[in-house]
Amino acid sequence: MADVLPFPVSSISYEARMKAILFQEFGGPEVLLYRDIPDPKLRNDQVLLRVKSCALNHLDVWVRKGLPGVNLPHINGSDVAGVVEEVGEYVTAVKAGQRVLLAPMVFCNHCSWCTSGQQNFCREFTVLGNGVDGGNCELIAVPEVNVIPIPDTLSFDEAASVPLVFLTAWHMLVSRAQIKQGQWVLVLGAGSGVGTAAIQIAKLFHANVIATAGDDAKLAKARELGADHTIHHYDAKIGDEVRRTTNKRGVDIVFEHVGKATWAESIRSLRPGGTLVTCGATTGPDVSFDLRQLFAKQLSFLGSYMGTMGDLHEVLGHVFAGRLKPVVDRAFPLSETAEAHRYLESSKMFGKVVLNP
Ligand SMILES: [Zn+2]
Repeated sequence: MADVLPFPVSSISYEARMKAILFQEFGGPEVLLYRDIPDPKLRNDQVLLRVKSCALNHLDVWVRKGLPGVNLPHINGSDVAGVVEEVGEYVTAVKAGQRVLLAPMVFCNHCSWCTSGQQNFCREFTVLGNGVDGGNCELIAVPEVNVIPIPDTLSFDEAASVPLVFLTAWHMLVSRAQIKQGQWVLVLGAGSGVGTAAIQIAKLFHANVIATAGDDAKLAKARELGADHTIHHYDAKIGDEVRRTTNKRGVDIVFEHVGKATWAESIRSLRPGGTLVTCGATTGPDVSFDLRQLFAKQLSFLGSYMGTMGDLHEVLGHVFAGRLKPVVDRAFPLSETAEAHRYLESSKMFGKVVLNP
């Protein structure tokens, strides 16, 4: 009798379950577990998204290894694109079925910083997938303000490759360093996600771009993206090459995110009065410099962290119009996230590595 269940109905859980990559302890790629977990519950003011693509960032590696404020178990993933599955009662701007990407930041949306458009100063500010669970899963519920429709010309993998790196690079070059037409800009780590974004943004401002990378294939791709000059950073000293290329002048802006390995050469590359802007320390945070260089050469060192919703909408306008292009290196199935982390840590990629649930 097929309609008789072999155990009491009350013992069966009918809770819908989704696939996710989570970790219950910090460590290497092996801590990433592919599991069934309950679907997120949608609040009235939220949008439920079916994730089609989620890009990796170095942040995923830092969070996996252990950062303060990360609660376990945790789901990584800051850069998400997908289809709206369902909207809460109070949501008016998007509807089910729309193709969208997510703003990668989390903020209160009512403090004085948020309401004045400086969300990255909000006391509750964090990155999606850092302070809160992210998009390494099939479904994610987020506030309406984070959900941004995308044009049909952009694939989900391309859309997921945009938010964090283009937002970060735009905030650094435009909002912080205030790039001007025709300036000289040195972009470190051209093969990284932020590097590929920075080269294109600098060219949008008709800058002279010098880009660095660790192998010839990456340098060739950097030139395809618009870099005017390239430096192989294992074969030559960056500062020497910059001085030669600029006829001893130095660059107006150094775009830093590498940290310890390049810091001294970055400073050597600046013209008097030049600006170094940094958003990261991939090779280590402990750097030193001679204070006399700072004041005698009248340099500016600027820190930059993510960006504002205004920055994001501004840079997305250029992406949606095709003036800035996301660079996708390769895609992995969500179930192979650990392998994707190993690939990211090998630094072989040019552009973004994405996961497909
Ligand atoms: Zn706020």
